[in-house]
Amino acid sequence: MLSQAASRLGFDVVILDPEENSPAGRVSRGQIVAAYDDPTALTVLGRVCDVVTFEFENVPAASAEQLAGGGALVAPGPTALSTAQDRVLEKTFLNAVGATTVDFVAVDTLEDLTAALETLGTPALLKTRRDGYDGKGQVWIKTAKQAAKAFAEIGGRPAILEARADFTRELSIIAARGHDGAVAVYPLGQNHHANGVLATTLAPAQVDAATTARAREIAEAILEGLDYVGVIGVELFDLGGGDLLVNEIAPRVHNTGHWTQDGCLCDQFEQHIRAIAGWPLGPTEAHAQVEMTNLLGDDVDQWPALAAEPNARLHLYGKAEARPGRKMAHVNRVSRLA
Ligand code: AMP
Repeated sequence: MLSQAASRLGFDVVILDPEENSPAGRVSRGQIVAAYDDPTALTVLGRVCDVVTFEFENVPAASAEQLAGGGALVAPGPTALSTAQDRVLEKTFLNAVGATTVDFVAVDTLEDLTAALETLGTPALLKTRRDGYDGKGQVWIKTAKQAAKAFAEIGGRPAILEARADFTRELSIIAARGHDGAVAVYPLGQNHHANGVLATTLAPAQVDAATTARAREIAEAILEGLDYVGVIGVELFDLGGGDLLVNEIAPRVHNTGHWTQDGCLCDQFEQHIRAIAGWPLGPTEAHAQVEMTNLLGDDVDQWPALAAEPNARLHLYGKAEARPGRKMAHVNRVSRLA
């Protein structure tokens, strides 16, 4: 979707992806089939591109560093990527810029976990520090007795213990920052997760002025704190009364921003391309109400019925295999703004 947006603006895109004939490769000018940390492939990519970006946060930060070290313009920069890849670094950064999170403790050993449970109490959520997404590598601990089992369940890996956020709902904000420091912010989305995976986003969400203002303030603090260039997704827990906690940040276009494709003149994909290419940022106001629904695994088989719905816009990713739980497509159901 990023590549399609870039191509509409007249850019040529080259994709680095280990999978031959990948969905992005098929709609781009070229594809380099190699691992994300292949030094030769990275050198070639850096040489052929005026600007390099990523849309998957588990790309090794070292690859972004190699590219930047070799003189390539990488946006967002390697620091944004490495910060978002480690939940402890991420939450430490967020709190430092005034974007409050749940209380947390870094956990390396079972002894650390036992002590952390005493500090934070139960229930608490144990998550791997790295490589977690869509609720993977996470386990709730209801009583201190479950500590050893929970630690084993996440493979005894370096982890973070988080206090439970007592939220009324989950929101997110998609924002962008240009090379010149200009910031653009989309209306908030309200998100529903099922089994730790995003199911739907409703946007623009019904939010009061205080909540909107606070979310914007948080997004701006994060963008500036990371000297960020590009689009970012910020997941929020709404505690009510304008009080928000940041759950996590995604240094890329974000699933909770897919609604912008059919709700805004300039969607998050075009916005990201504009930001990294040094163009002026595009408009972010909504012209329609959108309900975005993810199609996971076999859900994608519903496409004929969805394609027949008059107000539904279907976005199929062209992935070859519909593994259970895999994000295969999404549908935006569009209606008039309330
Ligand atoms: P994450 O992978 O960190 O985005 O977590 C996936 C989902 O788990 C979130 O969208 C929330 O629904 C839930 N969750 C994560 N962290 C917490 C927390 N500290 N307290 C309550 N719910 C949480």
